[in-house]
Amino acid sequence: VRRNPGEPEFHQAVHEVAMDIIPYLADKPLYRDMMVLERMTEPDRIISFRVVWQDDHGGVQVNRGYRVQQNNAIGPYKGGLRFHPTVTQSVLKFLAFEQVFKNSLTGLPLGGGKGGSDFDPKGKSDLEVMRFCQAFMTELSKHVGPDTDVPAGDTGVGAREVGYLFGQYKRLVNRFEGVLTGKALEFGGSRIRAEATGYGVVYMMQDMLAHHHESIDGRTCVVSGSGNVATYCAEKLIQLGGKVVTLSDSSGYIHDPEGLTLEKLQWVMELKNKRRGRIEEYAREYGVEYHAGEHPWGVPCDLAFPCATQNEIDGAEARTLIENGCRAVAEGANMPTTPDAIKVLRASPGLLHAPSKAANAGGVAVSGLEMSQNSLRMQWSREEVDKHLREIIASIHAQCVEFGTASDGHVDYFKGANIAGFNKVASAMLAYGVM
Ligand code: NDP
Repeated sequence: VRRNPGEPEFHQAVHEVAMDIIPYLADKPLYRDMMVLERMTEPDRIISFRVVWQDDHGGVQVNRGYRVQQNNAIGPYKGGLRFHPTVTQSVLKFLAFEQVFKNSLTGLPLGGGKGGSDFDPKGKSDLEVMRFCQAFMTELSKHVGPDTDVPAGDTGVGAREVGYLFGQYKRLVNRFEGVLTGKALEFGGSRIRAEATGYGVVYMMQDMLAHHHESIDGRTCVVSGSGNVATYCAEKLIQLGGKVVTLSDSSGYIHDPEGLTLEKLQWVMELKNKRRGRIEEYAREYGVEYHAGEHPWGVPCDLAFPCATQNEIDGAEARTLIENGCRAVAEGANMPTTPDAIKVLRASPGLLHAPSKAANAGGVAVSGLEMSQNSLRMQWSREEVDKHLREIIASIHAQCVEFGTASDGHVDYFKGANIAGFNKVASAMLAYGVM
């Protein structure tokens, strides 16, 4: 806290991991003496820079850009860029720290990083977004590269932004190389990358339930968010027979008791990606309820999928989920549950709860596969990429079971993911000696 003042999100993320790792290190004096956990909490470096761009009226705008290069012990830094007014150094440090564990769990050679800006793409014209992205990349290009640091999208950075960022990088360095993932298919993207995070969350839920001889078919699902992760999570749930009854955005949620269909979901994707509209419009289009300013966690469900943002389920909301009979939670967003909510969910006997670093690792996993395809100068089929994604999530589930199963057979997925993610990075850091 003394070294990182005013960074509550970062403290929260480190605390959550340390609570599992410190007891685990009780009989590992070498790891303790070599200060491995302490070293992992200190980013390799943080780059912060001024981003100046011109709006459509000729006015000059100033934002701050960041890249947190957290740890490259097992591969180049890898992690998304977030453009949102709530972006601070603390938020990006929490995301970069989590990313190290997540990337380790994928089994791919990927280090951890995260970046972004307090720029808000909402309400900006395409040209303004383009000018911002070009200005942002003009500085960021000095610090990234296909073997150094490979950013991707995150909140506020989708296909449009990745296109502008990649175009500017290519222009600056005069090389066509895989410096970003989440690219469009025409310039080196991977099939299934857009779907990967949402699909992966559902695959993780499938594996947790299968481990207990249950399935998604016929279960009522509450999903928050209506962006990339939420919509593809909903799509895979519907394909597997789940009944998705909610979606949300930062203004409120819609409740469709009949359940979304693939056609309705297609309408939402157009609304969000093309018209850049609000989820409230769904309520008018399909004649269902809209709850302004509320989260969807009061809607009774079997399975819950927070896919919007950090700390979107608090202790009281976690209690409501349990009282309504929720069986399992899989985290699509990063750190969507507050420490109180984690405590409540962990204390509920039998409830299955997959943390984000395990449940949403599908996105970065397919980003890793995009890097492999770029190096090979090849593009794999949908089936091929989906098969790899499925196997990677199954392996993450197996690691959680290996390190998180208690003597009574209950699987603590938080503990399992934290320890499994830690092990690989820690042993690489030990091999490098003191640095
Ligand atoms: P998008 O920008 O596509 O969508 C974000 C969604 O969450 C929107 O519906 C947005 O609503 C809502 N939202 C954002 N901030 C808030 C807030 N403060 N309160 C309530 N709702 C909010 O982002 P993604 O779907 O890509 O990302 C969602 C989450 O998933 C993030 O935590 C991200 O870090 C995580 N994630 C994403 C990955 C990816 O591959 N995209 C990979 C791994 C994790 P509104 O439009 O009103 O802002």
